[in-house]
Amino acid sequence: MSGHVLIIDALTNRRIRLRAQLDTAAYEVEVADNLQEGLNRIQAAPPDVLIVADDLPGLRLRQMCKVLRANRKTQLTTIMVAVAHENHSARVSALIAGAHDVIDQHSDAADLKARLRNFMRIKHDAVETRSTPDGLAHRGLAEAVSEFRPQTTVAVVQCGGQETWIKHSDNWEQEAGINLVTLTPDQVRRSPDGKTDVFILVERETTDTARDLLSALRAHPDSRNSRILFVTDRSAGSVSPLDLGAHDLVPPDVSSKELALRIQRLARQKQDADRARAAASELEEKAYTDALTKLKNRQAADEYLIRTDRLLRDNPRPLAVLIADVDHFKAINDSHGHAAGDAVLAHIASVLSANLRTSDYIARFGGEEFLIVLPDAGAGQARSVARRLRDAVARSSWALDRGTHVRVTISIGIALTSRSERKTTIDLCRAADIALYSAKRNGRNRIEMATARDFEAVLPQRTG
Ligand code: GH3
Ligand code: MG
Ligand code: MG
Repeated sequence: MSGHVLIIDALTNRRIRLRAQLDTAAYEVEVADNLQEGLNRIQAAPPDVLIVADDLPGLRLRQMCKVLRANRKTQLTTIMVAVAHENHSARVSALIAGAHDVIDQHSDAADLKARLRNFMRIKHDAVETRSTPDGLAHRGLAEAVSEFRPQTTVAVVQCGGQETWIKHSDNWEQEAGINLVTLTPDQVRRSPDGKTDVFILVERETTDTARDLLSALRAHPDSRNSRILFVTDRSAGSVSPLDLGAHDLVPPDVSSKELALRIQRLARQKQDADRARAAASELEEKAYTDALTKLKNRQAADEYLIRTDRLLRDNPRPLAVLIADVDHFKAINDSHGHAAGDAVLAHIASVLSANLRTSDYIARFGGEEFLIVLPDAGAGQARSVARRLRDAVARSSWALDRGTHVRVTISIGIALTSRSERKTTIDLCRAADIALYSAKRNGRNRIEMATARDFEAVLPQRTG
């Protein structure tokens, strides 16, 4: 993963030091020794990461973050501000002004590189999912939390050490809208709570408890989407927690204010990602649902059949495919109107669904045609389900306006495959269709089973 880094710092030795720390094989590094030159370079070639010294003459960080964020070309540029480690208030101000991260002016090379890799990954994901930077993880801390936000749930997990790391004395977490619980590593490992926005893993000794827990949380389906803030002062000589899946990393002497800001940012990312996922699955749900009958639509059915073929190939088992078609449906439209026809179709769909097990599959296959798949069903069971469906529809009647009642019937074609056969779902659908036509020919409100001859018609190349 290569990237383009721009360093803007007026002090020559710091500039040189920072540049030397960056792996020039992985990054193309540019430097500027004053704000104007830096801005010119950003304009000419927007960097992936901008590292700017907080004491740069003329720098108005808030303004700069705003401008970069508003410009399409620099929207995804990560803004890192280099601050003296002990200058807690400058660190907090930089984060509030909109920096994505604050690093030490004398930062350790391994830590800096791990942070850059982390941001490059986030950027890569944002580009990949074509998400807007505003909606996803790449936001800075500056944006005011103006819209309603649920309370941030944070679990602090202290891995080793005697005294508790987090200080509740000044109520900083309540002020920041953070609901903080303290858990032991065992509690978290046993049942990580997916509602936790941020896990804070505090590494207090040289055992690997915190790092193991980090991997466990990232892998567990319940906590996979939570964010993880890792607290450690073990930097030299070990892999950075950021490369093990942590989303942010702070030393134990981080100030409460900075900690609160970082937690809020992580929680916001988690909540935004949750919302994006929910919206995506809602959209997908819509794309696969037939609006009139609320059944799965043709697209969903086609994909289901492909999946079923794959399963049958690996694990042959009996399967029954039923195609049900409403009898003389055109006549309903013709005598009562299309809207009445629609209502009748929706009713038929609900009657059919109500008479199936949850393991059965039903979709609207075409206009007034339904596909029903019964996994593991043999001839007897398929026939009895088909009868139940046919009779349930025939028994129902639907009240239309002015006391008119409509009765309809359905015809059903059935095709079966057994464990020893190698029929595909396409073969089964075609054979069920032929059987359905026999049912129509033989008088409707009927069930017909596809015969060997019907299968011969759809499998000429296999039987011949
Ligand atoms: P058969 O017993 O042979 O199946 O006769 P049929 O009239 O049901 O069959 P045909 O294929 O001649 O007509 C199907 C009708 O279904 C024609 C079409 O307008 C109607 N139809 C298809 N989709 C819809 C729909 O979504 N709403 C309404 N109201 N009618 C539909
Ligand atoms: Mg019909
Ligand atoms: Mg039809």
